[in-house]
Amino acid sequence: MSESDVKDMSQLVSLAKRRGFIFQSSEIYGGLTSCWDYGPYGVELKNNLKSTWWKAMTLRSDVVGVDSSIFMHPEVWRASGHVDGFNDPMVDCKECKSRFREDKIDTSKPCMVCGAKDSFTEPRDFNLMFSTQMGPVEDSSAKVYLRPETAQGIFVNFLNVQATMRKKLPFGIAQIGKAFRNEITPGNFIFRTREFEQMEMQFFVKPGSQVEAMKTWKDIRWNWHVANGLRTENIRWHEHVGDELAHYADAAFDIEYKFPHGWDEMEGIHSRTDFDLKKHQEFSGKNLFYTDAADNNKKYLPYVLETSVGCDRCLLAVLADAYRVENEGDKDKERVVMKFHPSLAPVKVAVLPLVKKLDEKATELFNDIQKDFVAEYDLAGSIGKRYRRQDEIGTPFCVTFDFDSLEDNAVTVRDRDSMTQERVSISNLKKYLSERL
Ligand code: ATP
Repeated sequence: MSESDVKDMSQLVSLAKRRGFIFQSSEIYGGLTSCWDYGPYGVELKNNLKSTWWKAMTLRSDVVGVDSSIFMHPEVWRASGHVDGFNDPMVDCKECKSRFREDKIDTSKPCMVCGAKDSFTEPRDFNLMFSTQMGPVEDSSAKVYLRPETAQGIFVNFLNVQATMRKKLPFGIAQIGKAFRNEITPGNFIFRTREFEQMEMQFFVKPGSQVEAMKTWKDIRWNWHVANGLRTENIRWHEHVGDELAHYADAAFDIEYKFPHGWDEMEGIHSRTDFDLKKHQEFSGKNLFYTDAADNNKKYLPYVLETSVGCDRCLLAVLADAYRVENEGDKDKERVVMKFHPSLAPVKVAVLPLVKKLDEKATELFNDIQKDFVAEYDLAGSIGKRYRRQDEIGTPFCVTFDFDSLEDNAVTVRDRDSMTQERVSISNLKKYLSERL
């Protein structure tokens, strides 16, 4: 059986739309560039992804969670360096007025939109933060930003969390939430958008132990992606060296994924020293020292090891990795199947009565299955077509209720990946499914 992977982003965009994973935002109005809406299967998949991340982070004694607000005091973004420094170099084409990120294109070449030669302006800084007004009076004092990352909501709560949870170093704070960046060139589907979700964790350590923490968290984060089913040949490390390393970081590694548009960053694991806490201490005038009872009550600012992954970007990797075409070109045998890890699959089981006549009994079975598994019931079309539909949404198991089921109280369970079918007694069905999901 021949099998090929996704070749082009358009295959994913098309399947995502056709099968109710992801729609263009405001589509009936012609869409809004770089904004996407998650449909019924997309939101299940995304929730599953967030849930595995949240569990991996917080089902440990040394990490707790927060959910901070999107709007923060404007001084936060001055302290963090975002007001002055969160810029990308922007160039315009003088002919067609298209805008590009200078570091992402070769400006010695013709404009890739209109083909004009030597048409690019000199690069200038463009701040990526969205701003808006808070309150009814439009004066500059009410200017607030939509957070461009969730991390600052963690830093400013460092002492609140440490004190209320009576945490000792090393410990971490995790958060999932929306972030906004006015990207110059969004694109590649949900890879780079202007509104997205981040899953970030800041791990606070005693200065000097950041190298060890980096090693630990690199392993944890790599293994998390592998446990979600990403194939190891599609992920790799990229170490930041030289100019690439942010001025506040003493080490930084990205996990890159082989996206349909090429290798690109999926997650960053960065050793940020005490830069953020030091800045917030300076700008707020509040003492953010940690008192180390294990070291003669010494007071110091902890160092921070950050793990930061875009939920949507990670979901794109999950979609790309799961997408397989089997027996391509063979009219009878070709199928597209999303080989999601069972824990991520939006639907776990589909119950399919062979014919309409079996509706009542099959519905009884479905109602029972649905108590324990995210399940779907499908009565419409040939059984082959229904299997194909479930394959495309990545349902690990299809349960077919046929005429024999009325006699032997058993059903046929079809495995999504191997397509093998097994007769399983209804009394044993839930156990059978639990063991395999
Ligand atoms: P890039 O170089 O791609 O712009 P970055 O290095 O600025 O990304 P970080 O600030 O480290 O990204 O953000 C952490 C993570 O958040 C990234 O690894 C990515 O998964 C996600 N992310 C950042 N910007 C976007 C975006 N515009 N759309 C979707 N996800 C994003």
